[in-house]
Amino acid sequence: MPKSITAPSYYQATATPFPAHPPLMGDVSADVCIVGAGYTGLSAALELAEAGHRVVVLEAETVGHGASGRNGGQICTGFSSGQEKIEAQLGREDARRCFALAEESKRLLVERVDRHQIDCNLRWGYLHALPKPNRLDGLREWKEEWDELGYTDTQILSKAELEEKLGTSAYHGALREGGAGHFHPLNYCLGLARAAAAAGASIHEHSPAIEVNTSSQPFVRTAKGKVKAKFVIIACNAYLGRLVPKLYGKVMPVTSYIIATEPLGENRARALIRDGEAVADTNFIVDYFRITSDTRMLFGGRASYTTLEPADLGAYMRPRMTKIFPQLSDARIDYAWGGFIAITYNRIPDCGRLSATTYYAHGYSGQGVALAGIYGKLMAEAVRGTAERFDLLSRVRHMPFPGGPIRVPMLAAAMLFYRLKDALN
Ligand SMILES: Cc1cc2nc3c(=O)[nH]c(=O)nc-3n(C[C@H](O)[C@H](O)[C@H](O)COP(=O)(O)OP(=O)(O)OC[C@H]3O[C@@H](n4cnc5c(N)ncnc54)[C@H](O)[C@@H]3O)c2cc1C
Repeated sequence: MPKSITAPSYYQATATPFPAHPPLMGDVSADVCIVGAGYTGLSAALELAEAGHRVVVLEAETVGHGASGRNGGQICTGFSSGQEKIEAQLGREDARRCFALAEESKRLLVERVDRHQIDCNLRWGYLHALPKPNRLDGLREWKEEWDELGYTDTQILSKAELEEKLGTSAYHGALREGGAGHFHPLNYCLGLARAAAAAGASIHEHSPAIEVNTSSQPFVRTAKGKVKAKFVIIACNAYLGRLVPKLYGKVMPVTSYIIATEPLGENRARALIRDGEAVADTNFIVDYFRITSDTRMLFGGRASYTTLEPADLGAYMRPRMTKIFPQLSDARIDYAWGGFIAITYNRIPDCGRLSATTYYAHGYSGQGVALAGIYGKLMAEAVRGTAERFDLLSRVRHMPFPGGPIRVPMLAAAMLFYRLKDALN
């Protein structure tokens, strides 16, 4: 396991105090056992507990240990795959319904922040910045696609207009969204957990599931206990490992890295991103950045299919940031960490049933901050007997990744291909 995955992140250092939840000891019964306490699992847990179901959540480490507690905090629109691939599979009308669900996922997030008073520095505004000249047409097409889908809170910015907003001349224009933004991802995750626990869900940390039985009387076993349930939900995303062999080839873990500088002060921060939006470039291997509520530059990017990582992650990531913002060359890097993104072959999330009693959702392909919430909610809906919306999403077909010794080299080669493509396009 790369050491960045356990390196203390900026988010941990600024986390809202959260009570420890004891490991599972002994045998218990529940209506639903959920494996994994990230956004997917906790969203399902909250929904089910609020509806009066007995819910047990098992988390291998601590709440938010996975991607939900270490991501870029960027709340995105739609799916990482884009609409075209979904439309090719499901047809135009159903693809539109999928987009509507992605829009609902953002509203769900806001509603939960409000209703459960989750203090997570939620902020709106998002810039998709163009790293190559003469590509504004691509952004216009993107805008038209979203307009046509009914999402119109967007605007094309020329290079000159963008330079008014960003303290860099590295980009050649942008698509600005008002309906996307950023927040403190771990504090949102802890807030969801607090809300789920308040609604009656039992959360057990340091309780890795070691066996999942998907029969008509399913159960999940840990080293020190067992949960017998009517339903099981698997919500481990890139951290699943080989727990459920049928899911192993469905997603591929990819490491992404983030650094956070020292606090820059309001003036210096505003000179970098004037209006405090989240920013991501339009490359396949994305650079993403934003200013935190305490005025640090939080800069993420790179992707690796191997578990090899640089000895000094901060030094490794810094040139990427200073290429965009040379004025940060003297800024101290206070935090550097990483996490696993689960990608699918087609970059559309994968969800479904392993049996009549066992559901799963994963593979948001780097865009799960909002989406994971709706997938969790739809699994809860399905467990409660209304599966129409879950079934729509689960109709998407996925190619499995190869197993065995060629898995990592093949994907490392694919990554090299995309790096070259980003460099040439
Ligand atoms: C560095 C990074 C940056 C990202 N940036 C963004 C971004 O800016 N915007 C965006 O939209 N998305 C982003 N993502 C993706 C996003 O964070 C994820 O899609 C989302 O958090 C997935 O949530 P999840 O609950 O499905 O999975 P996770 O949050 O990964 O949760 C899975 C949980 O399952 C637990 N688990 C695993 N195995 C077991 C077991 N055997 N028993 C019990 N528990 C187990 C893990 O410990 C983990 O806590 C990023 C991801 C990373 C890693």
